[in-house]
This record gives sequence, structure tokens and C-alpha cells, in this order.
Amino acid sequence: MSKSYDVIVIGAGPAGYVAAIRAAQNGLTAACIDEWKNYDGSSAFGGTCLNAGCIPSKALLESSELYHKAQHEFAGHGIEIKGAKVDLAKMQARRAGIVKQFTGGISALFKANKVTGLQGHGKLLAGNKVEFTPHDGKPEVLQAKHVILASGSRPIELKDVPFDEKTIVDSWRALEFDEVPKRLGVIGAGVIGLELGSVWSRLGAEVVLLEAMDNFLFMADQQIAKDAQRHFKKQGMDVRLGAMVKGCSKKKSGVTLEYEDKKGKQSVEVDKVIVAVGRRPFTDGLVADDVKIKLDKRGFIEVDEDCRTGVANVWAVGDCVRGPMLAHKGSEEGVAVADLIAGRVAEVNYKVIPSVMYTAPEIAWVGKTEEEVKDSGRAYKVGTFPFAANGRAQALAAANGMAKVIAAQDDDEILGVHIIGPMAGELIAEAVLAMEFSASSEDLQRTIHAHPSLSEALHEAALSADKRAIHAMNK
Ligand code: FAD
Ligand code: AMP
Repeated sequence: MSKSYDVIVIGAGPAGYVAAIRAAQNGLTAACIDEWKNYDGSSAFGGTCLNAGCIPSKALLESSELYHKAQHEFAGHGIEIKGAKVDLAKMQARRAGIVKQFTGGISALFKANKVTGLQGHGKLLAGNKVEFTPHDGKPEVLQAKHVILASGSRPIELKDVPFDEKTIVDSWRALEFDEVPKRLGVIGAGVIGLELGSVWSRLGAEVVLLEAMDNFLFMADQQIAKDAQRHFKKQGMDVRLGAMVKGCSKKKSGVTLEYEDKKGKQSVEVDKVIVAVGRRPFTDGLVADDVKIKLDKRGFIEVDEDCRTGVANVWAVGDCVRGPMLAHKGSEEGVAVADLIAGRVAEVNYKVIPSVMYTAPEIAWVGKTEEEVKDSGRAYKVGTFPFAANGRAQALAAANGMAKVIAAQDDDEILGVHIIGPMAGELIAEAVLAMEFSASSEDLQRTIHAHPSLSEALHEAALSADKRAIHAMNK
């Protein structure tokens, strides 16, 4: 008799492992299958986010920022440090240690919640069966009442600039460089390209970012994007917009990247290339041919607003379905599906998903950009407040950027909040909560914020939407 579970999840990234834990919390028997293998051959739960994405990138962003501060900012505090040096092996060991702690933590959470964690390949068969093939083992067929597909995504490869795992690499390899490249080319100035470009630029690489779009950070509020572009330029990152990479030629050492911009054909020579042109849903070998799971034109598993696939009791969540490719979006879908399976009421509020870019300054937003609000035709008001006028930001020597609140002219509802500045990724949580409760800008105005705190910038931006900011001119 095959082993049977109420819920089998395929994929243990932030969408899948969270779904499995919530299913178990709901009193269901749950198994979670994952095939992830690291470069050293070890297997680990946690998916892209823990092993090759969110967590290792943030570890390196922090280390490299501290090095940058030691070199360029400590003197301003009256602290002299001579001869600050990078021990990259140690920095990378710290990064690997954090990853190991967190991936090990998932195994511990599985145990504590009585989730059966299975390492190997999972394949959905007809009749809600799942074939599980352990690493180096024989396949066995498991039975499930419900199956949740959470197979995630993979980096997109450019046909004309193929990965070679040494000089032309994806974001995962770029997190594990064992030396700082002298000249680094980054294709794609999206969130991943800018975060990785920042890491290696702070550690000493000359960084050129080639971005096909004419607008910098086209998905962000353009007032914030312009400010960000200025900061990155000041930091020495060479961002070339409207630069569509068309090919490459490899040299004895290094690569020449060929691209086209308004002026015609261009090229740039670099030692290493990170291709960061986005990610594609990953569904290879996930579903048997006779199971009618539909993929859309871009390869995402088709689902309704509750993440149902159309095949009875088969659900899909995370990067392998539509919506922003963000860990917290996948986790919320995982929670919602596990709750729906248990007969609870649940939904994901797709309108209020925060985005964060962990560069310096950080950039974070939720809701609509000013461009989107303008296009919607709804009358609106905008309040901004600069961190230069915020006492805590000055004390932190991080008085760059601004907070921006966009609210409806008629009922004052907050439509979007955009922050560029210190700890923007933490500050945005208040705006997310406010928008989750459909708060008005007046609600934020009347909420007491600690002084001196960075959060006062958001408070003042809300006040400024009604021309009532206290510590800045109300334009
Ligand atoms: P994944 O994390 O991709 O996990 C899917 C898992 O399923 C993998 O372990 C895979 O091996 C396994 N799998 C697939 N098919 C099978 C199968 N058939 N059988 C068994 N196992 C299978 N997002 C943020 O929100 N914040 C960030 O700061 C952030 N930073 C990032 C930085 C980088 C460099 C990168 C690359 C990504 C970053 N992301 C960030 C995006 C984030 O990592 C993804 O959105 C998130 O990991 C998606 O979660 P998921 O569970 O859907 O898929
Ligand atoms: P994201 O999807 O946020 O990870 O960003 C990927 C970025 O890569 C987008 O801004 C794309 O415009 C950009 N991009 C995609 N293909 C190319 C290319 N061939 N050359 C330069 N930039 C590209």
C-alpha cells in the first residue's frame, strides 16, 4: 500500500515549505518534497530564497556595505580606520553559515510540526498520486488528498550570452565568487542586477550595468527611480540604459559584451558577466503527460485567484504561478491554500504586496506608483518628506532619499507609498499595514511616531499630502 498524506507539496522554497507547515498546523498530514542540490552536492530545503537568493544576497550586501562604510563613512563619525581589507573567503564563509543555519532551521521546523520532509524529485501523476524519487534511490508512489505545486523559478539564460559557469554566470554563482572581479558586467538593471552590482562594486569591482529599457527601474515610481539613479551613479556604478545586449565574444581572459543603444552598435570588455535578465517559472519534469495542468504562454502554471489549477485538488503557488516573483508573495499563497484545504476562509491581497530593493539607499514600495495613479484617472494628492530633515537619519549618517505618500483626493485613501532611504525595507511595513486596513493619509497623520525615528519621515510625508508637514516646506 502506498503511503498516503492529506497534503503533498512539491518544492520546499518559501511558498512550498510554508504551505506544508501551515497544513500540518491545520491538523492535516503533510509531506514536502524537494530536489535542491548545492554546488558541493549537499541537499537542502529552502529553495532559491534561502540557498541562492534572498538570504545569501542580504548577507553579502550587509558585509560589503560595512566595508564601504569603514572606508568612506567612519571618518565622518570621527573614527579612523587605516588599511581596511576584505577577507573574501571569510565573508563568503559567513554568508554560507547564515544559509546553513536557515536551511537547517526548515528541517527543524518540519520535525517540530510533523511535516515529512523528503529529499528528491517529485512528479504529479494522475489521480492525485505523486511519484517521489529520492536522490540516489528508487521511485515510490505516494497518495495525496491534495497536491500543492511549488516548483519555483530558474534564471533566464540569454541565447547569445550563454552561461559557462565561470565567466558568464547566473545570480547564484555570482553570490559565490571567490575573488572580486576587476571589471564586472551585469546584464539587466532590475532588483537582482542592482543588488549584486552593489555588492561587487563596494568590494572593489568596476561595474557596468547594461539595461535594455530606457527608463531606470521602470516598475518603480519614477520620482524615486530618478533619485536612485543619481545615487548609484555617485557610487561609481556605470548604468547604461537603452542598452540591449545582443551577443558576446570570449577572450583568453574575460568577455566582450556586444550591445545596441540609440547610437548603434557598442561593446564593453569585462572579466566576468552576471546575467540578471529575470527568472522563468520552473516546471520541468513536474507533471506527468496525462495530467491536464495548463501552462500559460510564458510557462507559468495557470491558476485562479485561489491558486486552484483546474485539476481537482491540485493547487500551485509561488514563482511558478502569475504575480510578482517574491518570497513573501509565495509564502502568503502557501498559507492561503493550506487554510482553504482545511476549510478555513483565506485570500491573498495581491494589491498590497511590498517590493524591496536592498541597495544603499534601500528602495521599498507598496501599492500604485504615481504614474499608475495618474493613468487610472483618479484625482490624487502627493506628500513627500526628505530624510535630510529627519534627525535619526542624520544621526545614522544616512540622510538620503525621501518618503512619498500618494492618497486619493476624494476619500483620502492611501493608494501608494514609496520610500528611498535608510531601512526603507523595514519602514514600508507600516504602509503595508495601513493599506491592508484601507487607511487614509489622515490615519497615518494622526498615528504617533516615536521621535527621533526614521518612521517620522513617513508620518511627515502623509502630513505633507495635506500641506501640513511640520518639519519641511509644504510645496
Ligand atoms: P523556489 O524558492 O524557487 O523553490 C522551489 C523549490 O522547488 C526548489 O528548491 C526546487 O529545487 C524545488 N523543485 C522544483 N521542482 C521540483 C520537483 N519536481 N521535485 C522536487 N523539488 C522540486 N525575493 C524576495 O521576496 N526578497 C528578496 O530579497 C529576494 N532576493 C532575491 C535575490 C536573488 C539573487 C534571487 C535569485 C531571488 C531573490 N528573491 C527575493 C526571489 C525569491 O527567491 C523567490 O521569489 C522565491 O524563492 C520563490 O519561492 P518559491 O517557493 O516559489 O520557489
Ligand atoms: P528583473 O526582471 O527585475 O529581474 O529585471 C531584469 C532586467 O533585465 C529588466 O529590466 C530587463 O529590461 C533587462 N533585460 C532583459 N533582457 C536584456 C538584454 N538582452 N539586455 C539588457 N537588459 C535586458
